[in-house]
Amino acid sequence: MPASPFARVTVLGLGVLGSQIALQVAAHGPEVTAYDIDEAALEAGRGRLAAFSTAAAAQVADPEAYRSAPGRIRLSSDLADAVHEADLVIEAVPERLELKREVWARVGAAAPATTVFATNSSSLLPSAIADATGRPDRFLALHFANHVWINNTAEVMGTQETGPAVADRVQTFAEAIGMIAIRLHKEQPGYVLNSLLIPFLGAAAELLVKGVADPETIDLTWRKATGAPAGPFQIYDVVGLRTAYAIASADPRSAVWAAYLKEHYLDQGKLGVESGEGFYRY
Ligand code: NAD
Repeated sequence: MPASPFARVTVLGLGVLGSQIALQVAAHGPEVTAYDIDEAALEAGRGRLAAFSTAAAAQVADPEAYRSAPGRIRLSSDLADAVHEADLVIEAVPERLELKREVWARVGAAAPATTVFATNSSSLLPSAIADATGRPDRFLALHFANHVWINNTAEVMGTQETGPAVADRVQTFAEAIGMIAIRLHKEQPGYVLNSLLIPFLGAAAELLVKGVADPETIDLTWRKATGAPAGPFQIYDVVGLRTAYAIASADPRSAVWAAYLKEHYLDQGKLGVESGEGFYRY
């Protein structure tokens, strides 16, 4: 594993992915600060760090690094304080373009000029955010997959403005924190992973809302016929139904699916694995 080119890393948003990213980085050496909007959000983030630390420790070869990682993560609800010494900022705030642009404008004003910026956005192009950062040459996407410690791909995707040396450093960083870096040669909505996954999950949603088959049957078909370990609704539960809803409601073609998810799942507090129930009970 190469040494990390960034000694101090700040993660923005301690949700499902941000807490996993913070944990993964802290387990590999760099100093980590994690930011969320207020004390209540940080408290929820603490809970996620503890839960993911236990989950990761049960699945990796060096459990101690993950067990002790939460204790090495500094938490802050003051954005300027969180980024003022960062070498790298990784953003994992909710998947809404205007929110991300607003957060990046604030980070751009508060972070040192040399700090490199990365977004973990799943479905937004970094070029739609780049100018808001004030430093498009130092901005790119670094996209992790859920259960970062085991599903350890990190897609590195710059815009036309990203400096190649910046992308190289972020690739080395990804390798230094135990990831398999996937370098994209150009911008692609959904990167490699979601270019495959989102149409697949969308097709499953369509089968469900059209009443063709239930989630268990659809998942069983996929697992048995392809040898895949999980079906689409098992994947939905792991991704989290809030993220699924955010993606569905951003696309008018999936309005029926968005309404279905809201009525039958979100409004009932069923958010997937994280809440103990989604399409399945955990
Ligand atoms: P989430 O809703 O679980 O977490 C979002 C976090 O951001 C929450 O803790 C929230 O309090 C915080 N937040 C809200 N407003 C904020 C602000 N202004 N500044 C800082 N933090 C703020 O969402 P998530 O699933 O972790 O997704 C976060 C990002 O990661 C999204 O861009 C998503 O596309 C991407 N992503 C998600 C997955 C996944 O499987 N869930 C996978 C890869 C990438």
